[in-house]
Amino acid sequence: MSEQLCPCGSGKSYDGCCGPYHARRSDPPTAEALMRSRYSAYVLGDAKYLYRSWDEQTRPSLPSLRAIPPVQWLGLTVERRQAGGLDDEQGTVAFVARYLDGGRVVELAETSHFRRRNGKWVYVDGDVS
Ligand SMILES: [Zn+2]
Repeated sequence: MSEQLCPCGSGKSYDGCCGPYHARRSDPPTAEALMRSRYSAYVLGDAKYLYRSWDEQTRPSLPSLRAIPPVQWLGLTVERRQAGGLDDEQGTVAFVARYLDGGRVVELAETSHFRRRNGKWVYVDGDVS
């Protein structure tokens, strides 16, 4: 799917966006890039990526991530971000993700918290509103 648009909705190709992060060719430089790559990983069912992009102190087990039932993701909108840049150690990204559940569109609004661990961004936790 390398030539196809990235599932995160950036408008870039998968190879020019989240693909290299999933393939371990590079690391997301910002908290928002990590957040987008995690959304794409949900779309693609990449439980391993969700696991390794999650802070080891808060992450669920890999089998439990693999057991998440797939849903049809419809899109991602990043609403706000605070810090999470190239020179930051922590960051917050607020987003809305939409998916289909039994023919019904569900909007998941979350404010996610990120931090750097060994220089790499990881997801810590989120407040669902
Ligand atoms: Zn992407």
